Amino acid sequence: MQDVLIIGTGMAATALANTLAGKARVTLIEKSRGFGGRMATRRREGFEFDHGAQFFTARSQAFQQFLARPIESACIEEWQPRLTTLEAGLAPYKREWFEPHFVAIPSMNSLCKESLKALEGSVTINLGREIGSLEKIDSGDAQCRWRVFAKQTDDQREVLGEFDWVLSTAPSAQTSTLFANTDFSQLSRLHDAVHLPCFSLMLGLAASPKFNFDLAIVKESPIALIVANASKPQRDASHSLLVHSDNGWARENFDADRADIEQQLIDASSSLLGLDAASIVHSDLHGWRYAKTEIAADEDFLLDEESQLAACGDWCLGGRIEDAFLSGQRLGLSLAALFGK
Ligand SMILES: Cc1cc2nc3c(=O)[nH]c(=O)nc-3n(C[C@H](O)[C@H](O)[C@H](O)COP(=O)(O)OP(=O)(O)OC[C@H]3O[C@@H](n4cnc5c(N)ncnc54)[C@H](O)[C@@H]3O)c2cc1C
Repeated sequence: MQDVLIIGTGMAATALANTLAGKARVTLIEKSRGFGGRMATRRREGFEFDHGAQFFTARSQAFQQFLARPIESACIEEWQPRLTTLEAGLAPYKREWFEPHFVAIPSMNSLCKESLKALEGSVTINLGREIGSLEKIDSGDAQCRWRVFAKQTDDQREVLGEFDWVLSTAPSAQTSTLFANTDFSQLSRLHDAVHLPCFSLMLGLAASPKFNFDLAIVKESPIALIVANASKPQRDASHSLLVHSDNGWARENFDADRADIEQQLIDASSSLLGLDAASIVHSDLHGWRYAKTEIAADEDFLLDEESQLAACGDWCLGGRIEDAFLSGQRLGLSLAALFGK
């Protein structure tokens, strides 16, 4: 059996692991302490925020099939928020969704977490380990093998393992850094995909907000989206408000002082929603450098059979959770066919 390393535990990695489990010896290494990647959840001071992706749709048969079991086991549910559009100086206007929008239960990271935990025994999972580089092992024969090193914090080079195949699900720019010193033939294609950043402002309110919406799309503002987290199914009742910045605004301001960014987003939220400073009892900010795909690579995945390296993720096909799933699953199916030859 081939030894396969999957970098990440987000949606693409989850799809890959599900497809390859039992067909290869699979190890996942993830730099964060939790599962889910950009399907992320943060809990602080009694407040809870899905501070990455908010919801997902399922348009393809393949993703719908994958979701059948989590739906049956109530690991995901449809979310039907009250929708509105907000623009300073204009009356809010209601919107409607015309297809089901799902959230994971009890938090967005649960879908990857439960799906990967169900594979325990047939895949190995290592959380909280960041991969820094790869090195080809020169064994003298034609067999390709990779030695994988942890990100260096001192002079020590810590080996995390040796693998026949390395599959990265990290955003394209991060994969390009990881594969920089390899002979990956698709290296230049990684630069075709471009991500936009986003800031997530997490506000804990002293009392339940009296808004007439659960999800607001915001126009002409540094803010793009506001979500009342407790309106999602099976969330705790904390008064947690999630604010996503506009992607263009985040690009212009990404390297600015984070305290200034946080204050600007608090000011913009307060003036839009009529919040006074005393009602905000908790505030936190997260910056996503690679949040949303601006330009996709327009490929299912990037695979180099000779070097035994591959890359997949949302940025291959678009910028949504379903794109990440499809990219990961399609790479997994291709490799499973290759390993079965
Ligand atoms: C703020 C925000 C809002 C969004 N809203 C939505 C939405 O509402 N609906 C929707 O469908 N999509 C949304 N998205 C996009 C969605 O989150 C992504 O499309 C999807 O989660 C990407 O999955 P992925 O597996 O391709 O990548 P990721 O989730 O980024 O997974 C890659 C993983 O690799 C790990 N990793 C990276 N480098 C290393 C390394 N060197 N060593 C070890 N591990 C590493 C990362 O920690 C991460 O866990 C949003 C994203 C953001 C940030």
